[in-house]
Parts: sequence; C-alpha cells; structure tokens
Amino acid sequence: MSIAHTPYPTNLAAAGDGTTPRAVMVASLLNDLEIAEACGSLGIVVHFGHFSGIEPLQGYQNIIQCINDTLKSWDGQAKLLIENQAGNHGKEGMTLEELVKIRELCRDPEKIGFCLDTCHAFAAGIWNPLHTEEFLQHGEALGYWPHLVAVHLNDSMYAFGLRKDRHAQIGKGCIGDAGLRNLLTAQPFSRMAIALETGKGPDGTHRQEIAAVRKWYEAEVQL
Ligand SMILES: [Zn+2]
Repeated sequence: MSIAHTPYPTNLAAAGDGTTPRAVMVASLLNDLEIAEACGSLGIVVHFGHFSGIEPLQGYQNIIQCINDTLKSWDGQAKLLIENQAGNHGKEGMTLEELVKIRELCRDPEKIGFCLDTCHAFAAGIWNPLHTEEFLQHGEALGYWPHLVAVHLNDSMYAFGLRKDRHAQIGKGCIGDAGLRNLLTAQPFSRMAIALETGKGPDGTHRQEIAAVRKWYEAEVQL
C-alpha cells in the first residue's frame, strides 16, 4: 500500500485568480492523481488549505470549488485525501467537523477520503491521548472514520493544543508510545496505510520506529 503527497505550494483555499490561478492548481492536482493511479497508490494527500488574507467563508468556498473542478473529470481509483491541520497557519482545517462538512458539500464525495495526522490532531487540541475513547466516539458520530484512508503517524515535539506543527519520532515526543498505540490499534485504524513523517534515527534510518510500531500489532495478535 502506498499514498502520495501533493507539492507543498498546493493550496485548495487560494483565491484562484492570484499568482496561482485555479486552473493551474487543478491541473497540478490531476497530474498528482494520475501519478498516484499509475503507482497503484490509494490517493494523494492534500493539506486542507490556508486562508491567509481570505475571509473564512470564502476560503471554504474556494476549497470546495477547487475540489469540484479537479474531481469532475477524474474517474480513477486514487482518491483526494484531505489532511487535518495543526493550526500553526490559522484556525482552518483543525477540526474533524470541517473536514467532514467540506467532503459532504463537494459534488463527488465518494472520490474524497481523509488522512489523519496524529501530531496535527494533538497540536490542534482535538485528540487528547488521555481521552482517546472520546476522540474515537466523536469521529464515529461525525461519520469521519469510514472515510479515513491513511495516517501520518507522528509524535509531537510540543505539548497538547499548542498548535505547533513539529513532528517528533514515535515515542520520543509529548504524545508518547502508549498514546499513539492506543489510537492506532483502535478499530477504525485496522488495515490503514501508515506513513511516518519523522526524522531519521541514530542509524540514519526509521528501523527502530518501524520495529516499535510493529510491536503494537504483535501485542494485539497475542490478545
Ligand atoms: Zn502530515
């Protein structure tokens, strides 16, 4: 299983008539989808969007318009995967409510899924590892989990709710190994594509982190 990521300049919320016209953004997203499809990837992760200088309602409308323009001609299997944001650029995209609502309001919701970034959820204050059950129930009530396709698995360098997007290695940050394990071994996360977005370990690889994550699932199997 693999997932792709759109280039960082992609901003679904952009006005569409500025330095990057919407047609360019749409062409770039379609190109990303075609590459993902050719690789057999589940989809392309795209950040929710940044509203800098844009009135919030207009920002949400821009996102929907950009997604609609992109997906109207897309009939592949790869999906557009909207990622939750940490809040370091502004308040937009921090809540599951926004992600679910944007998906619902788009013309082709079945072509849209979600990518949950654990560091962003912790930083945004929507997932407190001490109350994981609440977060799971909240996502259930909103209908978020059925459309979750991928996870960006990251610990956080900063404490809960500080809106800082600084990833730490698994178990080495403020979330901790047990907090991440409790979430990732919960039912909505079974058979999920998981990508680490953390720094390399002392041996220059992610070997230690991958081994630590595998242990969570070995423990599950033994139960
Ligand atoms: Zn991420």
